[in-house]
Order: sequence, then structure tokens, then C-alpha cells
Amino acid sequence: MKEFQLIEKYFQGRGPLRKDVVLGIGDDCALLKPAIRKSIAISCDTLVENTHFFPDMPAQALGYKALAVNLSDLAAMGAEPAWMTLALTLPEVDEAWIKDFSEGFFEAADYYSIALVGGDTTCGPKSITITVQGLVPEGAALTRQGAKNGDWIYVTGTLGDSALGLDIIRGAVDVRPEYRQALITRHYHPTPRVLAGQSLRNIATSAIDISDGLLSDIAHVLKASNCGAEIEINDLPMSQGLKDCVSEEQARHYALCGGEDYELLFTVPESQKGALHMALTQAGVRFTCIGQIRSGKKLKLTLNGAPFEASFTGFEHFK
Ligand code: ADP
Ligand code: MG
Repeated sequence: MKEFQLIEKYFQGRGPLRKDVVLGIGDDCALLKPAIRKSIAISCDTLVENTHFFPDMPAQALGYKALAVNLSDLAAMGAEPAWMTLALTLPEVDEAWIKDFSEGFFEAADYYSIALVGGDTTCGPKSITITVQGLVPEGAALTRQGAKNGDWIYVTGTLGDSALGLDIIRGAVDVRPEYRQALITRHYHPTPRVLAGQSLRNIATSAIDISDGLLSDIAHVLKASNCGAEIEINDLPMSQGLKDCVSEEQARHYALCGGEDYELLFTVPESQKGALHMALTQAGVRFTCIGQIRSGKKLKLTLNGAPFEASFTGFEHFK
């Protein structure tokens, strides 16, 4: 099967129809008609086999997740998904694999209403690059820069499940059978907080999506916003599965350092707490206050109010 046949069969004419796509797949460029007074938010992520995913990852999960992680970046900016391109590098034309991949991919594309408007298909070691574009009213984008002393720090959902799911997949951890599938699903099928991100416009002072782990990602916000923070470990939202399957200390470590949850971390001033509750309750997304922005540059962790020194030995697989 030739490149263009593959594109025609599995990628062209699928996904949502959008009025702002003047010309989609098939020409040298796509033509798009951006809405006036909107900024375009753009982000690009590459997934490389053996670096970002195992060769045996189900193709459908990979198609879904490759897009979901990009949508998470749009969510973190408060942008509404609009268009994307897909660069696929494949060692061979394995039609069964491409069919499954495209199914997972368009499951996310349809749900979040993002149109595939172009891409590239090449031969080589398996990798997937997606560039997403979203729309956000001018001046309303959420960035990492706006956190202020006294703002409350929140996260959506629960933390650490995806990293535990990965350890289950790798065979490094064994968990109670009733939690196994749910935790693996959290790794293969993360939920980008697209609606929550848009709901936080004009409410949050800063936002980021948690892709590398809470401690690592909050550090980006503190640096960009030039401030410090205090986080109470007892307040970290953890799923029942995480709490029941590993020790308390391990659970803390997964929640603080585990990557790929794709939850949002954001800051909200005291004056906007009411608006936050209204907005995220309406969006149907769980959110939890885990601490507060402080002056200075340090990140201080507490456990039941007492200073907490993280000593995470025995978890070498975390960077
Ligand atoms: P060109 O040689 O001009 O770059 P291509 O033959 O690579 O064109 O692609 C033809 C058309 O198919 C273009 O519109 C391109 O954007 C689209 N396309 C190629 N690969 C993909 C893909 N993996 N997904 C979506 N569209 C693709
Ligand atoms: Mg090309």
C-alpha cells in the first residue's frame, strides 16, 4: 500500500467537520480560517518507540494517548482544540496496526472536536508527532507565569495512578486484581482536562498540565512566576486504588513524582475561590486544594503541618 492510499483509507475524511477548515487533507497545505479576536495556541509532541512507549503498547491506546497528551497542553493554556497535523514514521505498512491506531486517534479527535488537516507519512523507526492548534480569546490564555503570593494551589483529579499503572504494565508491581485494569487504563487512556482548562480562564492566575510529575511540574510554575510554595502532602488527592495497593510512603511518592497523569495544576487567588467552585463543578471535574503560593523561591513540603523531607529510596526507576 502506497503512502497516499494509506492516508486516504485511514485518515482522510475522518474526524469532526469544522466550518473553520477551508481546505483539509490532500493539497500541499491546509487552509484554516481563525476566528477574529482569538489567539492560536500551538503545541507539538513526539512519541518515539522504546523511549515514550513500549513496542507492545496496543495501537489503539497509542493513537488515543498520542493525541490526548497534546490536548492536555491545550487544556493547560485554556485553549479550545481546533486543528492538528500528524506526522507518522513507520518501519513498515502494517495495516492492522494502522487501523487500530487510527481508531484510538479519532476517538479522541471526535470527542474533543479537533480536525486533522494534514501531516506527513514516512518510513523509519516508529514515531508519532502531533501538532495541535487551539483557540483562546485574546489575552485569556492561562500561562505558567501569573502565580502570586497567597494564591491557592489546586490540582484536578487524582495523582500517581498513571505511574502505578505503568509499573503494573512493566511487571514491576503487583496489585489487587480489582484495581489492576483501572490503573492500567489511567496510564493508557489519560483524560486531558480540556473543558476544565477553558473553565479556568479569568479565574486561575497560572496553570500547567502534570506530565512529568507534580514536583517537577510545579517547579516550572514557581520559576516562571518567580515565587515559592508550600504543599501539604496529606492533601494530595489519591485514588482508592493507589491507597489500597501500595504502602503509604510509596503512594506519596507516586503522587509527588509519578508522571503522565495529565491533570491540571493551577493557582487561584482567594477572591476567585467561589468562581472556581462554580466553574469546575459545572465542568464536572474533581479538584483539590493542595497548598499555597509563598514569597521566596522555595518549595516547602509539609506532612500534617510539620516540615517533610522527601527521602525516596528504593524507587530508582524514577528520575
Ligand atoms: P507533500 O509531498 O506535498 O508534502 P504528501 O504526499 O506528504 O504531500 O501528503 C499529501 C497530503 O496528505 C497532504 O495534504 C498532507 O498534509 C497529507 N498527509 C500526509 N500524511 C498524513 C498523515 N499521516 N495524516 C494526515 N494527513 C497526512
Ligand atoms: Mg510530505
